[in-house]
Amino acid sequence: MFHKDLVIVKACDFRIYSLDMNLEAFVLGSGGMMPLPHRHLTSVLLRREGELFLFDGGEGTQVSIRRLNLRWKKITAIFVSHMHADHVTGLPGILMLSSQVDRDEPLTIVGPRGIADYIESSRRSLDMYINYEIVVREVQAPCVVWEGEGFKVRAFPLKHTKTCYGYAMEEEPRPGAFHPEVALDLGVPRGPLWSELQAGKEVSLPDGRVIAGAQVMGPPRSGRKFSYVTDSLYFPEIAAEVAGSDLLVCEGMFEGALESSAVEKKHMTAPQAARIARDAGGVRKLALIHYSPRYADRDLKILLEEARAIFPDTVLSRDRLALPIEYVD
Ligand SMILES: [Zn+2]
Ligand SMILES: [Zn+2]
Repeated sequence: MFHKDLVIVKACDFRIYSLDMNLEAFVLGSGGMMPLPHRHLTSVLLRREGELFLFDGGEGTQVSIRRLNLRWKKITAIFVSHMHADHVTGLPGILMLSSQVDRDEPLTIVGPRGIADYIESSRRSLDMYINYEIVVREVQAPCVVWEGEGFKVRAFPLKHTKTCYGYAMEEEPRPGAFHPEVALDLGVPRGPLWSELQAGKEVSLPDGRVIAGAQVMGPPRSGRKFSYVTDSLYFPEIAAEVAGSDLLVCEGMFEGALESSAVEKKHMTAPQAARIARDAGGVRKLALIHYSPRYADRDLKILLEEARAIFPDTVLSRDRLALPIEYVD
């Protein structure tokens, strides 16, 4: 499953297999507090190769999944920021939708205290048909909440009116790029030996020389990072948690003029989200999310302009916006 994106070397039929994985975030809902006709409540789906991970599940989440027309595959895990209705009322629908696909593995749901009772009481009182195992893990951030092949997901504490977590998905570094011309110069013929070198192994040549993978590979290359931050007061320590994010999805609920109201409600303004992105270092793109319903779609440009004045690489989340996350090198 690691082998993807075949690259054909010159005119011969030997192929270099890259370890690159597709990674893409889909905004399923971009609103906070209450839905609008064209704005479901906050939810982001992360697709990494064949696996789907859901961050929050506000009202309308399953509608957006269906409208996106993704080739539907099971959701591996759901990460819940906090137990407010605008972040979890879509989950019962997702649990029912998940009964439509065959699965052997359990669905894992991670969140703060209260998530287990919510899931169990919804399932019981609504007589939900669930034909798979659900594993609910109430965690206390900061902690690693998921370890996959080549990546992990970490929860970190935010400051809201109740316990609330941000999440960061971080990939391990990838092996360096393979240099076929160096391999040829060293006398390693095209063929299976190249695959062994790419896997970091040593190969022996007929003349007795031993060539190591490191001789034909560049330095290790960074993996990617995706961070998800909502709902919270602004506090500068968030920046360290999201440093180096290729994509930071962050609450930008209000314009800067409403900062005191945001502080009172323990939410963030768009300029504050942009300050986090700027101060973190290494953030490549900020996508604002969790807009106050006071802003109609045409008004969101106020939030965008204010954020871009501080962090130019800012975009507005919109329902069903796809945000590919590419490798830097
Ligand atoms: Zn909210
Ligand atoms: Zn909230």
